[in-house]
Amino acid sequence: MENVVIIGSGCAGWTAALYAARAELKPVVLTGEQPGGLLTTTSIIENYPGFPEGIDGTELMMSMQKQAERFGAQTRYGVQVTKVAFGKSPFQLWLHDEVIEAKTIIVATGASHRRLGLKNEELLERKGVTYCARCDGALPMFRSKPLVVVGGGDSACEEATHLALFASKVYLVHRRDQLRASKIMANRALSNPKVQPVWDSVVTDVYDVSKDMVTGVQLKNLKTGAVSELPCAGVFVAIGHVPATELFKGQLEMDADGFILCKKGTYTSVPGVFAAGDCVDRVYRQAVTAAGTGCGAAIDAERYLAEHHG
Ligand code: NAP
Repeated sequence: MENVVIIGSGCAGWTAALYAARAELKPVVLTGEQPGGLLTTTSIIENYPGFPEGIDGTELMMSMQKQAERFGAQTRYGVQVTKVAFGKSPFQLWLHDEVIEAKTIIVATGASHRRLGLKNEELLERKGVTYCARCDGALPMFRSKPLVVVGGGDSACEEATHLALFASKVYLVHRRDQLRASKIMANRALSNPKVQPVWDSVVTDVYDVSKDMVTGVQLKNLKTGAVSELPCAGVFVAIGHVPATELFKGQLEMDADGFILCKKGTYTSVPGVFAAGDCVDRVYRQAVTAAGTGCGAAIDAERYLAEHHG
């Protein structure tokens, strides 16, 4: 039986692993399908303390992993937890047919990209609709073409600025007339001559399913009600994230949006199961705050083990 199983391998997961490993608990990290989590899909991270020149998201995640493994964290790559049973101790986790038992669990499953919810968005995913400029922006299909970024937060601004490197034009479609993004990211995007904001507007359809590729979007101006078409070769959706907590429904208390509710520190509704990072946090959602709660979860798990398992 494992002392601590950590589900997820973003900032929260690796920090929890580092602290649990240094407490000699030999934590097991189940990386999930996207090792390193969402930060591996972002560009240079400029606001993680300790890196005055910024650091690449994937590099940061790989360094965190190495640091945790140096102290004895065990990594299981790419494994997907398919079912959990937190009703009694030891807790059980299914990795398809394999069952793992653990005295404590740290849930650090993070969040996934929010979708617009349009039928044609789904049909044209990977055919021009994407959720990651960093991953897909340089593809030949997007080069020297007009592109649409949807959203008004830091992600949308970062994507627009990044895409301007390759695209002929980047339309930043936002549902209000003010960006939510931090001033520095907003200024960087809006001062780029290739980036053109489209205010007060939402994407109401994506074309052209019959051609099996993106050729444009339908826009609706929320103030005037006017509907228009905007030709583009790609739609980059950056409208925030939803917590990746589906697996824990019925097992852990959550709010209406699926964020796991923690009581004291990182304690979930099930004693012995702790949660950290973006799957809990609807306020800060920063790499450094995820790392902070990951640290807290490992300390809470260590204390819980000392109290309940000697
Ligand atoms: P976010 O801050 O939640 O912004 C989401 C944006 O999408 C908002 O502008 C929102 O509009 C819009 N939106 C939400 N649902 C929509 C819908 N259904 N249709 C159209 N628009 C919709 O998300 P984020 O930009 O991904 O950032 C998440 C967190 O990560 C933030 O804390 C951010 O600071 C951080 N981050 C940091 C960096 C960095 O520093 N390098 C980079 C990326 C992200 P409203 O404004 O009208 O609500």
